[in-house]
Amino acid sequence: MCGIVGYIGGQAATPILIDGLTQLEYRGYDSAGIAVLGPTGARRVRSVGRVRELEAALPKRLAGKVGIGHTRWATHGAPSEANAHPQAADRSTDAPPTTVFVVHNGIIDNARALRAALEADGVELTSDTDTEAIAHLIARADADTLEEAVLATIARLTGTYALAVLDTAHPDRIVVARNGSPLILGVGDREMFIASDASAVVRHTSQVVHLDDGECATVTAGGFHLFTADAQHVGKAATTITMTADELELGDHQHFMLKEILEQPQSLERMLTGRLDERFATARLDGLNLDPQALRRFRRVKILGCGSAYYMGQLGAQLIEDLARVPADAEPASEFRYRNPIIEPETLYVAVSQSGETADTAFAVQEVKRKGGTIVGLVNVVGSTIAREVDGGIYLHAGPEVAVASTKANTHMAVGFALLALALGRVRDLSITDGTRIVKALKELPRQIGEIVADGDKVVEAAELLAHAPSLFFVGRVRGYPTAREGAQKFKEISYRHAEAYQTSELKHGPLALISPELPTVAIVPDDELLDRNIGALHEISARGGEIIAITHDGVELDARLTITVPRSAPELDPILLMIPTQLLAYHAALALGENIDKPRNLAKSVTVE
Ligand code: GLU
Repeated sequence: MCGIVGYIGGQAATPILIDGLTQLEYRGYDSAGIAVLGPTGARRVRSVGRVRELEAALPKRLAGKVGIGHTRWATHGAPSEANAHPQAADRSTDAPPTTVFVVHNGIIDNARALRAALEADGVELTSDTDTEAIAHLIARADADTLEEAVLATIARLTGTYALAVLDTAHPDRIVVARNGSPLILGVGDREMFIASDASAVVRHTSQVVHLDDGECATVTAGGFHLFTADAQHVGKAATTITMTADELELGDHQHFMLKEILEQPQSLERMLTGRLDERFATARLDGLNLDPQALRRFRRVKILGCGSAYYMGQLGAQLIEDLARVPADAEPASEFRYRNPIIEPETLYVAVSQSGETADTAFAVQEVKRKGGTIVGLVNVVGSTIAREVDGGIYLHAGPEVAVASTKANTHMAVGFALLALALGRVRDLSITDGTRIVKALKELPRQIGEIVADGDKVVEAAELLAHAPSLFFVGRVRGYPTAREGAQKFKEISYRHAEAYQTSELKHGPLALISPELPTVAIVPDDELLDRNIGALHEISARGGEIIAITHDGVELDARLTITVPRSAPELDPILLMIPTQLLAYHAALALGENIDKPRNLAKSVTVE
């Protein structure tokens, strides 16, 4: 959500900034802008819409070897050119006049008071943003250096921010600061890059420095200097990122979402490598930093995530209860962090996030830590905020996920929970026989997912049918319910159709009233101990003229308009395979409707603001 880029070095800054912003487009935004400092002064160009619209608005020559850029996801004021970043503040008293440019990701909570104080002081504000106040505070700070001005300003801010500041009075540097929103530096050869995440710099360098909350940096062509809010030096070396530029390319695919669905067999294979211990029928999870004794200590598991990560947490809770017989539940991190949760020493907290930058989840992690809890992470992006703050974790190794609607990262989260459940189970009551059964089933998953994605005809037919329904249900029960929730979420995210998830068992307690030939139901029906009950509930739908698309196993007899089958896994892992057709259903429905699949409206990939 929102992207920041910056460049300082020997090359022309504009193409690097535009390329970086394009890479960050997947984060979702509504407007974009850059400011470049050249031999004849600074130029700022901003536009509403996508990066290509900004590119079209650029003058022929926008020379300069230092600049900052931004894609905005409005929190203060509508998406408009005036509200787009960089925000600027002129120092007209300087001779010649100088200007401070600021790009900002986050929310300043005391913006209203700061803006009022500036206006009372005679400052004419030109935008509705919180960010503009930051630019003016820096421009008006009583300071000798840009660093001092930035420190004096951030001391007055409450809220979250990643900031990059370009000041025409100090053309040899960009000063950055971070509190609650992600920011990294890319270290090149006599050039430096600034970005919200590594995808924007991977074409230029593999050496990155992750800023932590409370850290600032002076970035010059020659390198960087990190310091804290009280101006203390921070020593930190660059780390090497493993992501490659190729992984961010679309290749032969029409959309990143389809590419990511199709690459799940390979990505899962990679995730499982070295993590299955066949001899002891368990999972090898050294990154958790918890030995068997420590794992045995937990009497409960609490999973925290947002959106699809929360649904995968529900699926994970079920796996943990099934395999480890430890009470487990999932809660949206966005709710948890605000309700003064009781943190128990014998509970294992698990934070789940693809990007590792989800602000609500990151705050929940801090809340657990502040109150003395043990928290581990299931995170995809190596070195991200959550990955660095947790006590240990399981990296998902799904590779970069670009489409806003998450697919492969979800599958990896589910498999991550299966590994955790197996490890927790095998230090408790899970027998070696059952452990072996799960290990075998996990090993089969990549191949089975390959079979599902290769056989998509039925799914396309079903998707075309569903795409034109004004509203639909996704139903499942117990193990199948999180799959239904995730299926409905994916469907509405990219097809903009109303899709509601319900427990199959609960239909007759209310929503059955809505069933009609116009309202189809996607039913998740594993061939498990609840099959007969499921079939009974589905009869209640068809008896009322409702059409059913069933996602089930071979041999299950159902009164459905269309039946999509998946291979059988261990019953505990079936929900993972049953989820794959729901990814394809959402994709093909959005395709049939001609929607912007990889960048759905109003949504952002990594939600780094509240
Ligand atoms: N709060 C700022 C604004 O509304 C920044 C939002 C963002 O993170 O893009 O302009």
